[in-house]
Amino acid sequence: MSKRIVVAIDGPAGAGKSTIARALAGRLGFLFIDTGAMYRAVALWAIRTGTALDDMHRLDQLARQARIEFGAGNTRVLLNGEDVTDAIREPEMADAASKVSTVPAVRRALVELQRKMATENSVVMEGRDIGTVVFPEAQVKIFLDASPAVRALRRLGDLKAKGIEVAPEQLEREIADRDRRDRTRAEAPLMQAPDAMYLDSTALTIDEVQEHILAILRARMSNGKEIVR
Ligand code: C5P
Repeated sequence: MSKRIVVAIDGPAGAGKSTIARALAGRLGFLFIDTGAMYRAVALWAIRTGTALDDMHRLDQLARQARIEFGAGNTRVLLNGEDVTDAIREPEMADAASKVSTVPAVRRALVELQRKMATENSVVMEGRDIGTVVFPEAQVKIFLDASPAVRALRRLGDLKAKGIEVAPEQLEREIADRDRRDRTRAEAPLMQAPDAMYLDSTALTIDEVQEHILAILRARMSNGKEIVR
């Protein structure tokens, strides 16, 4: 019987986590799971229902009731059956997701769901707390980083491709605010797991980053270490 492998990729906004995780998962035949999309989906539901983003009790209920699924080869995000893939990428959703993600009960609900999604499949899962909280036993852990200027530029490119115009200075400020909130929150703050490999993607291509991660995976496997469970 094949054993499940977890590749955990954490890091700040715009470091390239989604692009890399998606490409790697495709190459390895693993499931790609974008956990940020799950926090964004809860935030979207909160906004649509007029829930204050600091109403812990109501957010706890929403997170537990939300039916969050990935469809079409994990390229689409479904919230209660509705395709919200584009809606959760609106610029204001990033900030809203970062706010709801500070609520411990929201994190508990989504972490449980994330673990369930990986029970049957090998996964490449990306987020902020995958190597530290969701899968501390992940066989491969990467902390993907890039300079603040490059991260802002990448996000700008993502938004432009979707036809969304944002002033670069405003985006840089928002990313800095979000990073600060993610790194300083009490519950599961963004940080590098002690056994994670730090990878700075500032000057690397997508292929180069992938090769680094694949090399780690191969090394683990060829050393005969217990890398799967
Ligand atoms: O990755 P993305 O930018 O879509 O994530 C949106 C927000 O969701 C992050 O700024 C962070 O606050 C939150 N998040 C989190 N834990 C994760 C993934 C995302 O707190 N595992």
